Amino acid sequence: MSRFLSGRFVALEAYTPGEQPRDKRYIKLNTNESPYPPSKEVMERISKEEVMALNLYPDPTGRALKEKLAALYEVNTEQVFLANGSDEILNFAFLAFCDAQNGAVFPDISYGFYPVYAKLYQIPFEEIPLKEDFSIDSKAYCGLNRMIVIANPNAPTGMALSVGQIEEIVKSNPDHVVLIDEAYVDFGGESCIGLTKKYGNLLVVQTFSKSRSMAGARLGFGIAQAELIADLKKIQYSTNPYNINRLTLAAGEAAVESDAYYKENAKRIIETREKTAKELRELGVTVLPSKANFIFAGSGRLDGDSLYRELKAQGILVRHFEKERIRNFVRISIGTPGQMEALVSAFQKILAERRERP
Ligand SMILES: *Cc1c(COP(=O)(O)O)cnc(C)c1O
Repeated sequence: MSRFLSGRFVALEAYTPGEQPRDKRYIKLNTNESPYPPSKEVMERISKEEVMALNLYPDPTGRALKEKLAALYEVNTEQVFLANGSDEILNFAFLAFCDAQNGAVFPDISYGFYPVYAKLYQIPFEEIPLKEDFSIDSKAYCGLNRMIVIANPNAPTGMALSVGQIEEIVKSNPDHVVLIDEAYVDFGGESCIGLTKKYGNLLVVQTFSKSRSMAGARLGFGIAQAELIADLKKIQYSTNPYNINRLTLAAGEAAVESDAYYKENAKRIIETREKTAKELRELGVTVLPSKANFIFAGSGRLDGDSLYRELKAQGILVRHFEKERIRNFVRISIGTPGQMEALVSAFQKILAERRERP
């Protein structure tokens, strides 16, 4: 830390992304990326002509991509907001809708970025504990009259709320934004986009990073009523109007056109998830019921950090979180069937060794 950093950031603890190691090749199951490549259409759209046009600024409105997303999700283009990853929308939402008097509420165990944004902007926040079974206590979010942020399905548990449960929350907080982060919704959750027709305070956020194999391109979108989207645009145009680069806009359009390909990939990932969860449970491992492209798993025989380290020693990277209630778990992204077979074998080996030396 330099002597130049403003005092208000001295105590700020930044978000820690999952490791992207360079020391050797791992089976990388730690950042919930897709194991499948972008569609052929995406690869073809990043043509020489597209690169040649990089001397020009991109369209700051992203109109062509918004039209495609609007058609896919049956809303109008004024209801779509585009951003440099969905993280940017979260950032803009905390900046736009909260301040020292208007706090935020989210679950105690959820996406680790929410408290970071709250602290960055010095927004008071409350973390509501998950229930005993690690599900979100939806009743506890009703009538709070603060901005509410919920990942649905939640991370790192993978567990989902129903649209009906979300609707109760949205309906009971009519004067505050309810942000539903649907980063993992394409893997078996129910989207709340339909509710945006009825509720002006609902903001649904999705990303191209997980189900659309474009984590490296940085593209996210939000859907809400036009009035709320206009607020986000105000922040966009006050920070970085050209927030999405030309190549990403082009890739995004092609990705929406190849929706069927990504739906097929999501289906394969769900099948692989269910098979992996079943095999791990047969080994005595606890696996929470997941509707995401990862599972949250733990064994009574060793803590999560040891599990993480022993898997890493076998060439498999997973994610462990240093938090009391989940310290016995690791989060495992769903890879290809072959990668998950390697994972199950590694678990088998680790658990067998533990049995021999109790
Ligand atoms: C991955 C993830 C994001 C961030 O997605 P980007 O679009 O890559 O910025 C947001 N929310 C949750 C819950 C995530 O898991």
